[in-house]
Amino acid sequence: MKRFFTFALLLIICISVAAQKTQVIAHRGYWDTPNNAQNSITALKAAQAIPVYGSEFDVNMTSDGVMVVSHGPKLEEIPDVQKAIYKEVKRVRLKNGEKVPTLKQYLKQGKKGNIKLIFELKVHPSGRVEDEAVRKSVEMVKEFNLKNSEVEFISFSLEACRQLAKLMPGYMVQYLNGKIPPKELKEMGIMGLDYHYSNFVQHPEWVKQAHDLGMIVNVWTVNKEEMMQQMIDLGVDYITTDKPELCIRLIESSSR
Ligand code: MG
Repeated sequence: MKRFFTFALLLIICISVAAQKTQVIAHRGYWDTPNNAQNSITALKAAQAIPVYGSEFDVNMTSDGVMVVSHGPKLEEIPDVQKAIYKEVKRVRLKNGEKVPTLKQYLKQGKKGNIKLIFELKVHPSGRVEDEAVRKSVEMVKEFNLKNSEVEFISFSLEACRQLAKLMPGYMVQYLNGKIPPKELKEMGIMGLDYHYSNFVQHPEWVKQAHDLGMIVNVWTVNKEEMMQQMIDLGVDYITTDKPELCIRLIESSSR
């Protein structure tokens, strides 16, 4: 009996340590594999097939109001995806021959997997257009009944982050433009920071400050082993990377 309790206690300790471990987010899907392309459905499927926490993707709205998954502004032969109409975007083929996914097609595949969808809403040219993009993002997430355990939002637009946090209470929203200290972000109702790694090299204290405030720390886009290790040692919650399998291996070996 005593042995059982010791085992149970050890198991609980292991689980709680594991819960604190840094986890990995595939940047624009896991696209760095054969016959793949950034922000494609194939890249999302590849991320869903490996043990990552989530898969990040970029969302832009075309000038005729269609939400598409593409980094932009340039999209192959189109100079600016936000200024194009959907009919033009539909003709584009990605590097692997796939069509540019609409947000609807992308979320449909996202719903099939069990990793988190890290939804980056791109900055749009005016407040009015961005408000529409925010509204359509929220509508689509609701249409697919994506719960807060299935999707998180990130954006370089502080206003879009504020609005998303207000419209989607209980959903994680992270600000991308790393100049704001954790406390100030929290005061705006934004509970996560997803900053370029250089911001945490400059302000390593922000990680602890954020955690003490109950906030989440994500870092982009870390592709070099040395920097991954530095971020793991700093105790960030998530590392967003183009090299998810390398990062998973590093985390595994760091926790041994
Ligand atoms: Mg992105």
